Amino acid sequence: MKDPDCLFCKIVAGDIPSTSVLDRGNVFAFRDVSPQAPTHILVVPKDHVRDVSALGPEHGELLGEMIAAANELARADGIDTSGYRLVLNVGPDAGQTVFHLHLHLLGGRPMAWPPG
Ligand code: 5GP
Ligand code: ZN
Repeated sequence: MKDPDCLFCKIVAGDIPSTSVLDRGNVFAFRDVSPQAPTHILVVPKDHVRDVSALGPEHGELLGEMIAAANELARADGIDTSGYRLVLNVGPDAGQTVFHLHLHLLGGRPMAWPPG
């Protein structure tokens, strides 16, 4: 299912250009246009899902596929031993700005905890 008004649906479809790094099964990944770390990749489902709170049994192993993709991309970018952060923002207080589920893969520099 695609949402014709959704930015990330358009990126998955190739209607908006992106620097893609993975296209496999139900999952697509591309580099964030405004990177917050040397590696900043967004892993998304190809079908439209608003955010992680909208996932249900009908989505099967989708989240597992997304995490497996992120782990693989971390290895590919050489940050698997230095460490990385996986982030799923949900709603306004978390700062979600694009309402198509996306897993942020961030790494390549030390990061503070907790985030601001
Ligand atoms: P959120 O704040 O919703 O968790 O994350 C949305 C992310 O999408 C942000 O990090 C933002 O930089 C990224 N983003 C927004 N528009 C585009 C775009 O057109 N292309 C790419 N590659 N990333 C985008
Ligand atoms: Zn979408």
